[in-house]
Amino acid sequence: MKFRKKIIAGNWKMNKTLADAENLASAIKLDLADCREVDVVLCPPFTALKTVGEVIADTHIKLGAQNMHWETSGAFTGEISPAMLRDLFCRYVIIGHSERRSIFGETDAMINRKLRAALAANLTPILCVGEALQERDSGRAVDVVRQQLTADLDGLKDEAKSIVIAYEPVWAIGTGRTATPEQAQEMHAHIRGVISELAGEEAASAVRIQYGGSVKPSNAAEIFRQPDVDGGLIGGASLEARSFVEIVKASG
Ligand code: PEP
Repeated sequence: MKFRKKIIAGNWKMNKTLADAENLASAIKLDLADCREVDVVLCPPFTALKTVGEVIADTHIKLGAQNMHWETSGAFTGEISPAMLRDLFCRYVIIGHSERRSIFGETDAMINRKLRAALAANLTPILCVGEALQERDSGRAVDVVRQQLTADLDGLKDEAKSIVIAYEPVWAIGTGRTATPEQAQEMHAHIRGVISELAGEEAASAVRIQYGGSVKPSNAAEIFRQPDVDGGLIGGASLEARSFVEIVKASG
């Protein structure tokens, strides 16, 4: 099996004022500045990107954004372009988070445009996919995730291996209900299979697939131990330095 370096990203969502963000990033830096075994990414809100970027500038921790628009510039009030994220030294950007899909109406077509724009700007997208509870309960989870991947990655065969995929079952996000390690492994293996069909075997064995959904220090190690789980996208537990650091250490 190809070696895939684990990647843990903290999605701070719409949390943390500037002072709080600086404190959190500084506390995480104390423990993880020299961490090389695992890729660590912090995704603060747009308003804190510059400050957090400055805190982690001399470390191995990378900066990510939570969203972006696909256009370079123009009349798109309230939006942020890939070039603006590059300006702030962002290396990653979360694309298609379920909250963007369900609350802000992002479609797979929009997500496809965002992926293309992120890659063109040399940003590594963290593409989120995952089924809702009724889709899992009705046995459609694997089909839903296949449809999302097929539409989101349309025309991106060669680029697929450079994208990080986050499997985030919607029913596990912020609910305290985590997928079992077996459920996560089963879906991750399915995702790798779909990538193999879409982009070939080499891309499938290289692509990193994170699990996201109520990961905590108490359940992280068991989930990360699954062969097709290459790290995690962490929401709630990334808002506190100690729990985020413990989760990173559980992945090493
Ligand atoms: C997320 O929103 O990406 C997430 C995984 O959240 P939580 O860890 O809080 O479930």
